[in-house]
Parts: sequence; structure tokens; C-alpha cells
Amino acid sequence: KQEQYRALRERPSATIDGAEVKLLLNAGLLVDLPHLAETGAHGIGLFRTELQFMVASSMPKTAAQQQLYRAVLDAADGRPVTFRTLDVGGDKILPYMHREPEENPALGWRAIRLGLDRPALLRTQVRALLNAGGGRDLRIMFPMVACVSEIDGARDIVRRELARLVKHGHPAPSSVEVGVMIEVPSLLFQLDEVLERVDFVSVGSNDLMQFLFAVDRGNARVSGRFDPLSPAFLRTLARIADRAKAAGKPVTLCGEIGARPLEALALVGVGYRSLSMSPASIGPVKAALIEADAAELAAFMTPLIARADGKASLRAEIEAFAAKR
Ligand code: PEP
Ligand code: MG
Repeated sequence: KQEQYRALRERPSATIDGAEVKLLLNAGLLVDLPHLAETGAHGIGLFRTELQFMVASSMPKTAAQQQLYRAVLDAADGRPVTFRTLDVGGDKILPYMHREPEENPALGWRAIRLGLDRPALLRTQVRALLNAGGGRDLRIMFPMVACVSEIDGARDIVRRELARLVKHGHPAPSSVEVGVMIEVPSLLFQLDEVLERVDFVSVGSNDLMQFLFAVDRGNARVSGRFDPLSPAFLRTLARIADRAKAAGKPVTLCGEIGARPLEALALVGVGYRSLSMSPASIGPVKAALIEADAAELAAFMTPLIARADGKASLRAEIEAFAAKR
């Protein structure tokens, strides 16, 4: 199998009817970078910047952050990299950062909330990213956004830091694209306003599942209770893909569900053309995709999710369809 996946590395990631499906990597540390070449990934769809902070024993300085981001861009060698700003809090704890204990950390003071309330931290990080991106294309993504004003606030920080960089005569990135994670359900009801304000979006299906179904992703007792291949979740994902397409904004999915071959086929069927995943999943997902027909998948998935007859999961139907080919 490993040999077979390696052989697929140079093969374009497209379905038999010619739909290109970009496969990207989820990464977060220097050790992840060799996987780019090993897997033949299109780029890094999610660079989790909090990992550098989590493995450190004290808050990484701007210079250290900048050095890491530059190394990542060097390794990517022109392939796109989406840097996600600090997603700390929740299940991601920095031992050196004092915080009040929270009763529900997943719903607590985390990610962009913390970034906007303590802007020095976010500003420093954005500065490091802009500096590292000098002369190159830079993509910055904000996690756990729940309302439009948070996007405006975060964009404002990027705008100001960019102006500061230019004022100081440092080389600016050749382009700066700003995006948000769609992982808090409140965004589902303001998708058009969100899409107007960003250059791209990325669905965080891990958190979106957790918050939509109210199941703690870290609690094994409940985390498997609801199937992502359920009508409710597939309709949610289809809606996001449709709205993004209508707005002309690229959408990626970077949660765990995109990393499983059957789920990846279902995602293509509801309109996704870009999936970001752990390195080991690229081979198996690509092997499934290159045997699939995107138009057939769409023709199958659209009516399936529209009339689901109250089923809790459509896995059996999707499995049967995939097995027929
Ligand atoms: C997600 O929530 O799906 C995601 C990709 O981000 P993380 O797993 O880091 O929360
Ligand atoms: Mg998340």
C-alpha cells in the first residue's frame, strides 16, 4: 500500500471526469515540512501556529516566530501555505500563560477572542507573519470566529501591521490574503457577510461537528455518537460550499473528516475541491479520488441529502455507491 501511494505522488489529483481536487497538508512544526515533498501535496492548507507555542517553555519571541514562518515558506517553495493564527485555549493550553480556570474551556476565552482582547499577542504574530512573508504570497487565517465584527477587528490588525511594515521600509509580502475558519455554527447564518469580508474560508469540521451536535470532541464517550455523514452535517457542508462558490471565494475543508477516503468522496459530491489533511492520509484519499467521477458523485449526493427520511447517517448509502464503481 505504501508503495502504491508513493507511486501516486506525481499523479495529478483529479477525478476521472477531470475535476481537480487539491490535497493539502495540515502541519504545525518544522518536522512536518519534509512531508510536502514526500506526499506531493499541493501546499499547506492549515499551519497550526499554536504548536510552536505549546512545545515551548516560555512565550516564543517575535524573532523565533518569524524564523519558523520563514522556514515554512522556504520549504513550501512557492506552494501556498495558510497560516492560522494562535488557536490557544480550549484543549490547547500554554503552561506558561496564566489564565483563570474555566468551566467550559471549549466555549471559553480562546483563539480569536483572546487575540482581540489581548491584541499585543495577535499583533506580534501578525507582524512576524508579514515579515516572514516579505516578497512572497502570504495567507493568514483566523480561528474560532463567531461573528462578523471579529473579522473586521482581525483584518484591522493586519492592515495596521502592514502599513507599519511599509513605513519602516521592510519588504512587504507580494500579496496578503485573509481568511477565516468556519467552525462555529453562528457563522452558518451569516455566510454571505463573512464571505464578503474574506479572501477564502476553511471549514474546521472537527470543531464544527463538536459545536453543531454539542459533543465534546475529546470525550470518547460521546465524540463518535453522531456521524459526520449525517444529513444535518452534509447539508451544512453543502451550504457552505454553495455560498462560497456563489461568492467566488475559495473554500477548503481542513478537519479530520476530509482525511478519510469515503468522507472525501462525499465532500467532493457536495462541492469541495480542496481538502487539507495529515500527511498519511494524502495517499489513501488520492487513491479514492482518482477512481471517482465528480459529476456522478454530485448527482448522487444532492438528492440523497435533500431527502434523507430522518436517517441519522447516510454512510451505508454512500458506501454502497462507492463500492459499485
Ligand atoms: C477543526 O476544528 O476542524 C480544525 C481543523 O482545527 P483544530 O483541529 O486545530 O481545532
Ligand atoms: Mg478548530
